[in-house]
Amino acid sequence: MTTTLGALEERARAHGGEFGQDALIVCDSLVRIYQSEGIEVQALQGLDLLVEQGELVAIVGASGSGKSTLLSVLSGLDAPTAGRVRVGPWDLMAMTPRQRVEYRRSMVGFVWQQTARNLVPYLTSAENVVLPLALAGAPRAQRARRAAELLDVLGVGYCADRRPGEMSGGEQQRVAIAVGLANSPHVLFADEPTGELDTATSHDVLEGLRTANRELGTTVVVVTHDAGVSEHVQRTVAIRDGRTSSEVVRRTHTREDGSEHVVAEEFAVLDRAGRVQLPREYRDALQLVGRVRLALEDSHVSVWPSGRPSAEGRGQEEER
Ligand code: ADP
Ligand code: MG
Repeated sequence: MTTTLGALEERARAHGGEFGQDALIVCDSLVRIYQSEGIEVQALQGLDLLVEQGELVAIVGASGSGKSTLLSVLSGLDAPTAGRVRVGPWDLMAMTPRQRVEYRRSMVGFVWQQTARNLVPYLTSAENVVLPLALAGAPRAQRARRAAELLDVLGVGYCADRRPGEMSGGEQQRVAIAVGLANSPHVLFADEPTGELDTATSHDVLEGLRTANRELGTTVVVVTHDAGVSEHVQRTVAIRDGRTSSEVVRRTHTREDGSEHVVAEEFAVLDRAGRVQLPREYRDALQLVGRVRLALEDSHVSVWPSGRPSAEGRGQEEER
């Protein structure tokens, strides 16, 4: 079967519609400006991000790069200054307060960095998971069973009768994931869930998020300043200065002998306005500052320092 031009055109039209129309989460040129004591802070500076249904995505970036701001917007706690943000059918720019409550209850779940913010200290793990089920009006008979199931899936079934004070930080965070998943949200957001944990315990918590993604099919977006997280996820998006700057995508390849190995590939992100951020190592290596030269080649685009036309640059100067 050959693909006709008509079919290609139809497909292009279908995809040429709205930016990210097939994605579950769409952030389009998001801007968030904070005003405090007369000073403006641009926490998000035109951020674009697409997350597909069923993905497990990590967002990494230095402290102050805008990660928590992004998660507050996505979780419906904060409204952006400009741009477009959609999660499933919900347009987060145009929600009434009542819709916002409904969105937070039915569409998304959260896990925060501070273990104390996730769990009620005087309730056991099982009671903590039952609480959101009770608030959402789940039938009484189902609550305890659902709580036990979730704690089991996350490997903390043995903590069901313990209060937060009787568990390690990693156990508390895995219980917190169970609480976040109680009402079967479409998306689970986690803001630095391992921020207060050591490496070994962080591993268990990140594996807990992976379990939520794989076994329950929940789309997961986890924010962290820990670059090591990329080992646990398919896609890592780096934020710098309130914008997405690069992505690492991991794929599992099967060798001829049947053994598997993981290939991680880093991509720069071209934003909707055509901007790309060049990694610092590249800029330093070629002293790329201020103006640079660009050339369109058959299969790629070349970038040179402006002052030094390159010999491989096919005699840039002469051509002008
Ligand atoms: P991250 O989570 O990546 O560390 P944040 O999203 O918390 O970054 O912050 C991004 C920027 O916005 C920082 O410069 C921070 O100081 C600023 N910021 C965050 N929240 C507020 C606020 N409520 N008022 C003023 N500035 C804020
Ligand atoms: Mg933060």
